[in-house]
Amino acid sequence: MNFNSALENITSYEAGKPIELVVREYGIEKDQIVKLASNENPFGCSPKVKDAVRAIIDNMSLYPDDSMVKLKNALGEKYGIASDEMIIGAGSDQVIEFAIHAKAHNGSKVLMNSVTFAMYEIYAKQVGAVIVRTASREHDMDEFYALYQEHKPSIIFLCTPNNPTGDAIDADTMLSFIAKVDSDTLVIVDGAYMEYARFKDPSKAVDPKALIEKFDNVLFLGTFSKAYGLGGMRVGYGIAQSPIIRALYKVRPPFNITTLSLEAASVALEDETFVTECIADNFKEMKRYEKFASEKGIKIIDSYTNFVTLSLPQEKNSSQIAQALLKKGMIIRDLSSYGLNAIRVTIGTQVQNSRFFELSEPLL
Ligand SMILES: *Cc1c(COP(=O)(O)O)cnc(C)c1O
Repeated sequence: MNFNSALENITSYEAGKPIELVVREYGIEKDQIVKLASNENPFGCSPKVKDAVRAIIDNMSLYPDDSMVKLKNALGEKYGIASDEMIIGAGSDQVIEFAIHAKAHNGSKVLMNSVTFAMYEIYAKQVGAVIVRTASREHDMDEFYALYQEHKPSIIFLCTPNNPTGDAIDADTMLSFIAKVDSDTLVIVDGAYMEYARFKDPSKAVDPKALIEKFDNVLFLGTFSKAYGLGGMRVGYGIAQSPIIRALYKVRPPFNITTLSLEAASVALEDETFVTECIADNFKEMKRYEKFASEKGIKIIDSYTNFVTLSLPQEKNSSQIAQALLKKGMIIRDLSSYGLNAIRVTIGTQVQNSRFFELSEPLL
């Protein structure tokens, strides 16, 4: 069968290996497996969220509230924005999909960093868009500007902090760059890890409200999958001026967020203390990774997220190391598909991190 020819040069997204797969393939007991591969919050979500979801478990037969009033009110309060300035997606992934389908088409150019979140390219290629990438590993705003002038892309992705490397763009530098971009170019600021950056260094953090007050061509993305510990519930959001949001609504399927997910995300916003404590612990544990790496003489990229990226020396092969760890029940991310000889490790609980040090010690 012939399919849309745009699909021919797409490689499907490779998700972090689920625990169940390691149980089946390697015969390791489930409780012996540690997954530090998908940047999930190792402490899960607030207990208040679990109680709230249990309390509405009988509501599954009715379609969800498609106006998403409760969650939109909660987000509106958190950020000081109006309901028509946001859209909710099944993960911010879905908002990326909406934005690309709403803005780009066959032959459009989409500009992004050399190494960045893999889904930008996948969604862009679905509509036949052409990918333009920078050369430098970190977001270099001068290089972005030069490529912007050369290619006049319809969409620019700025992932800050960046996945899979963990570094973040200086907020003022980013704002000066956006100010130079024409208003018909959609600038997507992916803030999946913004809560972590704001905690570690406010000069790396942007406030979505300030961003959309200033610019009519910016879409900010946030998610409940990382700091809020709700990866399994699939809730993310986009924040922009209302004309952008209205366009995204045209490509949104109805009822894209389940009743349980809407409830979970709404209640998660009521317990910011839980999230802040998890983030504080994250950066405390990150110091142990920094110490481990420096003792091993391995380069670690300064991270504003809940993961660390270890750049390996030439004689160590990241795929082999990830594979060897997998056989011992430790799931981490090999970054060779991004063209890096590096591994990305999500910061887990103290016990999980100690296990990583113990298992990787003889390999690294
Ligand atoms: C995890 C992640 C997302 C999306 O996560 P969802 O679970 O779809 O909300 C988006 N961007 C980056 C950079 C991420 O790391």
